[in-house]
Amino acid sequence: MEPYSVYIHIPYCKKKCRYCNFLSTAPEVKDIDTYIEAMKSELRLYKPFLSNREIKSIFIGGGTPSLLEPDQLKQLIASISLSLTIKNTVEITMEANPESISAEKLKAMHNLGINRLSIGLQSFDDTVLKSLGRIHNAESSFAAIEKARSAGFRNINVDVIYGIPSQDITKELKGIKAITPEHVSFYYLTIEQGTPLSMDKIFKPLNDDSFQELYLKIHEEMIATGYDHYEVSNFAKKGFQSVHNMNYWQRGDYLGIGSGAHGFFKTGLPWIGMTAQARYENAYPPSAYIEKALSSDGNNVFPISRVEVLDMDAETLENIFLSLRTWKGIGTNLVKNKTLMKHLTDDGLIQVNDDKLNLTVKGMCVMDGIVTELF
Ligand code: SF4
Repeated sequence: MEPYSVYIHIPYCKKKCRYCNFLSTAPEVKDIDTYIEAMKSELRLYKPFLSNREIKSIFIGGGTPSLLEPDQLKQLIASISLSLTIKNTVEITMEANPESISAEKLKAMHNLGINRLSIGLQSFDDTVLKSLGRIHNAESSFAAIEKARSAGFRNINVDVIYGIPSQDITKELKGIKAITPEHVSFYYLTIEQGTPLSMDKIFKPLNDDSFQELYLKIHEEMIATGYDHYEVSNFAKKGFQSVHNMNYWQRGDYLGIGSGAHGFFKTGLPWIGMTAQARYENAYPPSAYIEKALSSDGNNVFPISRVEVLDMDAETLENIFLSLRTWKGIGTNLVKNKTLMKHLTDDGLIQVNDDKLNLTVKGMCVMDGIVTELF
């Protein structure tokens, strides 16, 4: 059977960033130990159903997974390999924030088989970092990269946020050139309702022209620096595309472990008696997840809180969206509005070759509108 991916969610952060609406909370003492026990129980539940399939990628995300101590991480990874089957060539990524990684911790992570690090640098400008409510500064970001290299990491991603008022994108691009990571994810700052940032009057979304100018500048500079722009928000040096993210974009199966984690299986969720392709979400907050997962041993109760069954229409639309995010593109036979296809080609927003339609870089800036109108 096709290999699949595993996403592990660690829902803890020292302090909430001002723009964040991810599922994370500050941990109490002992919270993380109990949480690890709950994840071990959840992983055991999947053994009878998935141990005959190989895992091609594991992503430990959050939250701030680098808050985990080496021993906690060791328990977690050991428990994945006890319950499930990991491919020899597996990509294991762990997210880390600059303030929570020491040289010792990085060494321990590397020794445990974590072979890809994703560092949430967000910016190389201290003023920008402060305005986002980040608790690290640019100096600690440079230091984190140096420590990661010394620990043996040869596959590093950095996350950078753009679209922040007063941000100088040239400074960010210069920072990237200085540290030369193998992979960079550029995320446009979205101001989520209810976050402290949404109350801040100076944070306003860019207008379409400014956004396009910024996006094209990032694209051009990154290409000139030797990166491949292989997905709307992602750039990689040759051979360093993210296996885990590619699995999402190719609509591959993935198991979600931990509070608030999502999973998706085209083959259905037989462990809860479902044969149709479906997505699921685990219980949140962590206390609800822990209670469910710890009571699951022996009685086969999965800590799932919501399931969404996907019909053919939903599948087609997802395929279109996901394929257009990368250079894979989509067959023109799926296009409903052929007249518009011609107009968009003339405007340089899409390109059509051999019955295959791709977005151009300019088209990626207005992707949602294009997909809605064309399909
Ligand atoms: S580190 Fe990430 S998950 Fe944690 S509060 Fe900041 S943005 Fe949210």
